[in-house]
Amino acid sequence: MKKLLVLSLGLATACHTSQNTGSEVAKNAPKVVEYIPTPFAESIIESDLKEHLYTYASDEFEGRETGQPGQKKAIEYLKSEYESIGVPAAQSDGDYFQEVPLEISQVPSGSMNINGKEYVLGEHFLTFAKAEGTFDNIIYAAYGIETDNYSDYEGLDVSDKLVLIKSGEPMNADGTYTLSGSIVKSSWSNMSEALGKKVEIALNKGAKGVLYYDEGNFARFNNRFQYMKTNDSGRMQLAADDNGSFFNFIIDNTLAHIILPQIDTDSESRELSVPIAINIKSENKKIESENVVAFIKGSVKPDEYLVISSHLDHIGITADGEINNGADDDGSGTVAVLEIAEAFQKAVEAGQRPKRSIVFLHVTGEEKGLLGSRYYTDIDPIFPLEKTVANLNIDMIGRIDPKRTGERNYIYLIGSDKLSTDLHQISESVNDEHTLIELDYSFNDENDPNRFYYRSDHYNFAKNNIPIIFYFNGTHEDYHRPGDTPDKINYDLLENRTRLIFYTAWEIANRDERLMVDKIPAK
Ligand SMILES: [Zn+2]
Repeated sequence: MKKLLVLSLGLATACHTSQNTGSEVAKNAPKVVEYIPTPFAESIIESDLKEHLYTYASDEFEGRETGQPGQKKAIEYLKSEYESIGVPAAQSDGDYFQEVPLEISQVPSGSMNINGKEYVLGEHFLTFAKAEGTFDNIIYAAYGIETDNYSDYEGLDVSDKLVLIKSGEPMNADGTYTLSGSIVKSSWSNMSEALGKKVEIALNKGAKGVLYYDEGNFARFNNRFQYMKTNDSGRMQLAADDNGSFFNFIIDNTLAHIILPQIDTDSESRELSVPIAINIKSENKKIESENVVAFIKGSVKPDEYLVISSHLDHIGITADGEINNGADDDGSGTVAVLEIAEAFQKAVEAGQRPKRSIVFLHVTGEEKGLLGSRYYTDIDPIFPLEKTVANLNIDMIGRIDPKRTGERNYIYLIGSDKLSTDLHQISESVNDEHTLIELDYSFNDENDPNRFYYRSDHYNFAKNNIPIIFYFNGTHEDYHRPGDTPDKINYDLLENRTRLIFYTAWEIANRDERLMVDKIPAK
């Protein structure tokens, strides 16, 4: 109804202007273009989404695993689609591909020589990265704890030294804990938490490396170490995350007592004259992967950016050769971004270029730990993050959550109200006006045990205080299984959900004021 009204107004204006040709007013008046999203939103249609998805999630793309041939097919497909609709690359050199160098950590090998005796990695000590060094002595820092009123580092200089610490926390003679003054343990006794905190303290004090005596963590990491050794498979990570030369060893009871026989009862920080030579080698396997980034430059505020994202990768082929097509995850988001880009490009061609710039970001390595989006935000944001007004992230919008009751015309929204009241209101109002989808906030709860807010690419923007909305249909029986195929997608829902995102993007890109960040996120 609104569209008709505006169109007839437009017609009236045109008639009026034509009757006044020749008048100075008409000649000098700026050409006013009515910004109407509806015709462009309506160019997003089921059949186009379906056509894209039947290719993108076909067996030919082999499940699009990061670094594999299927992922290369996916990026080539995206590039050729952007070329054909006329949306240019975001990078100034015209390359649609943003290289995201990754590596898989391989289990290291080598040994440690203590007092002239050789110990092999994996027997009495563990580490997951290369390490080298020769030390005349070791600095024993007992529990390795430092707080406002307690320190095991008093009088110790650990810079460039090897530090030996043990698990647990100090106790008084009466059996109470020194830090709490009672029989209650502190977080320094929590196995996982203490490991990270104690190692960080040593690192911050300039230590070269840590020997951490902890039977609990030794058992835990030994399982992982032996598994990796047998399966030769480490974690994929950003190549840039290779954290330099600092090293961290978990040592067992035997090795701890070789270095300091009375370590269990001795908590006096000091230098121990025990010479150690460490020689651990690790070759990480390099993986090449790419984000695909396209761009429409804004007309009025070209240096403010809206990022619309989805992940281009999926989980590849199963051990027994079945292809995980990933039609919903995240083929649905991928084809939605393509169609949104095309709709904006049609607007550009009709003289309605968005006022702010729009970045169409297809990230790699999501399934490996949000790597492509983290590369974009933490290492190489093509456009400044402080000028990035919002991120609309789409990850699975083509299916229906079978556990959900209620009508099928819904979508879960996560994060819309976390940083910006404006964003939440825009999202609600464009939906009321245009798409009438039931916006379900079930997973938006801070205490949601699924923690979806932290589990897709938008999180890398949110952690930089950039308002986000995560669009998601929930999980289903085919999630991360070969059954996630394009025939199971609800294309009518995919169409309407994609239009909702387009309308939201339109409003963010074209409104006068930048979205206000007026809320502090819960940590
Ligand atoms: Zn996904």
